[in-house]
Amino acid sequence: MPIYNFSAGPAVLPQEVLQQAAAEMLDWEGSGMSVMEMSHRGKEFMSILAAAQHDFRELFAVPANYKLLFMQGGAIAENAIIPLNLLGRKSQPATSDYINTGSWSTKSLKEARRYGNVNVAASSEDSHFAQIPERDSWQLSKDPAYVHICTNETIDGVEYQFTPDIAAETNDAPLVADMSSHILSRVVDVSKYGVIYGGAQKNIGPAGLTLVVVREDLLGYALPACPSAFNWKIVADNDSMYNTPPTYAIYIAGLVFQWLKKQGGVAVMEQRNIAKAALLYDYLDSTDFYRTKIASNSRSRMNVPFFLADEALNEAFLAGAKENGLLQLKGHKSVGGMRASIYNAMPLAGVQALVAYMKEFEKQRA
Ligand SMILES: *Cc1c(COP(=O)(O)O)cnc(C)c1O
Repeated sequence: MPIYNFSAGPAVLPQEVLQQAAAEMLDWEGSGMSVMEMSHRGKEFMSILAAAQHDFRELFAVPANYKLLFMQGGAIAENAIIPLNLLGRKSQPATSDYINTGSWSTKSLKEARRYGNVNVAASSEDSHFAQIPERDSWQLSKDPAYVHICTNETIDGVEYQFTPDIAAETNDAPLVADMSSHILSRVVDVSKYGVIYGGAQKNIGPAGLTLVVVREDLLGYALPACPSAFNWKIVADNDSMYNTPPTYAIYIAGLVFQWLKKQGGVAVMEQRNIAKAALLYDYLDSTDFYRTKIASNSRSRMNVPFFLADEALNEAFLAGAKENGLLQLKGHKSVGGMRASIYNAMPLAGVQALVAYMKEFEKQRA
């Protein structure tokens, strides 16, 4: 029986990638060493790093005037690193704007309050984060240091289906986006953003690696208190080698990038992700046995929270799913119910198996 892992993160990786990593575990390409045992400044690892950087830039279509940084600390550390690097563009105390669309953007804006003024320009908290606030409702500041959004809320299951244009109202403030849980799942026009960041463990690779894509003119404004290892300019000037980078996580991410290129790239993955999400949402919309609370214009293609109408059946649903090889479907504790995360590495067959199980469970219990 095939196993399908719906974990929100750390999450499923492509089988082929894990098989290759297993085959190369003890001896990477005849070097006699595991990648974990190599100097990060040796020629073997330098070639792994260069390939991963090159392949990510190609897949994500990163323009030449953007730096790609491989950091540590995850998106939660970046929540502090962002104000520490960007508030210095304005006189202190500076203001930044945040759009609150769910658990992760709430966390981001709370952290930013430690470093400056935060204007929550829009929030869907009153409607329990069931949709992205309409762009016309945003009350942006006139001259914020930056505007922060989370383009896919992993816990709440909402995703931007548009790219907000903020230039005119904000004196050209850079748009900063947490893309942790859908980076490389869809085509993105990087030039519309000042900074894009994300932890790798949702849609790219193992935990421990953080990706930051930053426009060059935004470098060099870090506040004096910013730790050197978190200063984007220092990291960029040292080609992500100011401190020891998370070498094994970079290696696995590099294998995932090669796998994505073999699949045909991000545009091909996006079409597959649209098809996978449609299969699940269409079924949820067709029955009263299960429910989704997310507005149809804001539904995430990556993270699909859903509920059984009779929540007393939750445990039986999860136990049956596990017997059928469908793992980690329990919803986040703050939302409850179920959540199916269907990242790039989840094949269509996995979503088909999930929907088939949901139909069967409904037939037995309705
Ligand atoms: C998982 C996640 C985070 C937190 O990432 P850490 O690696 O734990 O710091 C932040 N934002 C989003 C959108 C996430 O999915």
